[in-house]
Amino acid sequence: MGLTILYRLSIFFLRMLSNLLLMIIFFSSYDYQERAKIMMKFANLIDENIEELAALDAIDAGKLYHMCKALDIPSAANTLRYFAGAADKIHGNVLKPSRQFHAYTLMEPIGVVGHIIPWNFPTSMFFVKVSPCLAAGCTMVLKPAEQTPLSALFYAHLAKLAGIPDGVLNVVPGFGEIAGAAVSSHMDIDAVSFTGSTQTGRKIMEAAAKSNLKQVSLELGGKSPLIIFDDADIEKATELALIGILFNKGEVCVASSRVFVQEGIYEEFEKKLVEKAKAWVVGDNFDHNVQQGPQVDKKQFEKILSYIEHGKREGATLLTGGKTVGNKGYFIEPTIFSNIKDDMLIAQDEIFGPVLALKKFKTIEEAIKSANNTRYGLAAGIVTKNLDIVNTVSRSIRAGSIWINCYFAFEDDIPFGGYKMSGFGREYGLEALHKYLQVKSVVTPIYNSPW
Ligand code: NAD
Repeated sequence: MGLTILYRLSIFFLRMLSNLLLMIIFFSSYDYQERAKIMMKFANLIDENIEELAALDAIDAGKLYHMCKALDIPSAANTLRYFAGAADKIHGNVLKPSRQFHAYTLMEPIGVVGHIIPWNFPTSMFFVKVSPCLAAGCTMVLKPAEQTPLSALFYAHLAKLAGIPDGVLNVVPGFGEIAGAAVSSHMDIDAVSFTGSTQTGRKIMEAAAKSNLKQVSLELGGKSPLIIFDDADIEKATELALIGILFNKGEVCVASSRVFVQEGIYEEFEKKLVEKAKAWVVGDNFDHNVQQGPQVDKKQFEKILSYIEHGKREGATLLTGGKTVGNKGYFIEPTIFSNIKDDMLIAQDEIFGPVLALKKFKTIEEAIKSANNTRYGLAAGIVTKNLDIVNTVSRSIRAGSIWINCYFAFEDDIPFGGYKMSGFGREYGLEALHKYLQVKSVVTPIYNSPW
């Protein structure tokens, strides 16, 4: 597309957005019980349409239909319910008594929020943003990823049926450089909540700084380590490592894409992991027996394959996988590399595909050093029965979530977010509400003071 056309589209989009913002009334003017009731109704409507919604995400993103039906869609409805329950628990504080002043704080909605989301979890990403934002009483514009707009449009329809007033939740699909950039640079948007790549996160911050200094929160990429110690149950540990990298075909920001295994169990672990990876079923994502569907699109498919080639050239050992599956569609074999060095590209870059980097370690210090040898800091897993190791490692890893003897442990009340270049701000939990609120201090004199 020519630059002139891009520019004209941006201007058109910005004007459209301005008109849309004029319509916006603050959802906060609704009584909190009314807001919560509407959110609960919205959640029930999701449950009633679960099959259609699961099919939309499966078609758009290549996700497993049965997984969307069992997990993505119902847990998104529960996220809405969790934050509906929080809507009446937003309050400020009375501040410590002073001789001169009585002072208290009010928690007010931040205003108009722009949400920009990625394609790997279209439904979860939609509700992780929208639910606390509705509870806080904000109005919002949400831009879904260009690859996956379908369920977002369906959710806009359900929001209307649930009774969310026009102008409160606006879904505006479009390309990142046009629609996304319009959101992040818009003068009437007070905050932008972004989930996506670190590269785009930088652009969002720049646009916010160059426009109206809107508040920014960023949920970005990761290269998460899973550290497995000698005392681990090998059967369980291989399951965790496999799910950690292959769930959602590796298109997961917290995928355990680097696995460090202690030398005492390394050989047996490697053998078992490779056996299991070879038995992993790749194919039609609407087939219930399939464990891994196609990558989201050609661009992502080619990017993953080029990292695999890079891994071979860098001197890592390809234990299994590395090839495409069939000659139609974007299917990639579960791929495991060993003999990894921390500075290899496949150990540093987020591949966002079914590609695992496996490394042997001797001491706890060595494992911690390797785990932290990344620009990212989203999550980490530890597998051991030793409490001293758990305490030491969980405090030494610079990441926002530490999962002990489990992985992907997401719950609505557990805050989630990044350290380092994985971003800042938290999703889920009451921490997420605070992104969409601002504090106002109200002060009155107690005595007849000269003030
Ligand atoms: P991306 O950054 O390319 O796109 C994300 C969104 O940003 C899309 O909606 C896109 O249209 C928009 N966008 C692109 N350019 C833009 C611009 N210049 N201005 C404004 N918006 C723009 O990321 P992606 O490829 O869609 O998603 C994969 C990335 O998302 C991975 O890095 C992954 O780790 C990350 N991710 C992070 C989390 C998390 O919670 N930390 C969750 C899921 C995905």
